[in-house]
Amino acid sequence: MLRSTLVDTHCHLGDPAFDADRAAVLARAQAAGVSHVVVIAESLSASERAATLARGSTGLSATAGVHPHDARTWSADTLARVRELLAAPEMVAVGETGLDYHYMHSPRETQRAAFEAQLQLATDIGKPVIVHARDADADMAAMLRALAPRPPVVVLHSFSSGDDVWDAGASIGAYFSFSGMITFKNWNRTDRLTACPPDRLLLETDAPYLAPVPLRGKRNEPAFVAHTAAALARLRGLGTAELAQRTSDNFFRLFAKARRP
Ligand SMILES: [Zn+2]
Repeated sequence: MLRSTLVDTHCHLGDPAFDADRAAVLARAQAAGVSHVVVIAESLSASERAATLARGSTGLSATAGVHPHDARTWSADTLARVRELLAAPEMVAVGETGLDYHYMHSPRETQRAAFEAQLQLATDIGKPVIVHARDADADMAAMLRALAPRPPVVVLHSFSSGDDVWDAGASIGAYFSFSGMITFKNWNRTDRLTACPPDRLLLETDAPYLAPVPLRGKRNEPAFVAHTAAALARLRGLGTAELAQRTSDNFFRLFAKARRP
């Protein structure tokens, strides 16, 4: 088994799906060579939970922020608390935030306002921002382009958007994070995986969702990022260890930068 360091840069480890066996999940991640997991928050309460999980744990860091589904809960008080949580060193990024016009759990303008505020927060505190994008390509691309010439570090998570968002992300030096979706039969954008600059490539599970083939349909967990790493390595013509090293180097470079005052 692969012993080099893999990083799961996007895992909803605070999700109730892990309440019964969170410690065992982390032990399996270690055994699979996953040395670090970023606990992603999608609401204020999830941000508090993520912060608690990451506090004092060497293999975990966490984010604080509000998902576009929950954008209607965004307020000045939320911003203040998210900012406070992000002052801790193990709190490495804002998010996940973004735009999701597929489910529309919050109105578009509400989503845009919450996203805008979290982009601004990332800029203000000098930490990266984890971005979720679904069926909102035109607005997403415009909002990313508007960050130039001094964008925060943007991570486009579980990337599966169209050309507009790809180009906008590339133009501001965004990182592209790929999930188990790239192992699905219906993934038809192998060109993205080969075109992504090697220094902008990240890996994630988005657990408990999106388990990669051959585990598709199961609850996803950080250990399974090894399957996504193997698929991406194959497509880029690299050994899995080399790909793991590359993506982990990217992660640690990105977040070391984020820690700089
Ligand atoms: Zn997510």
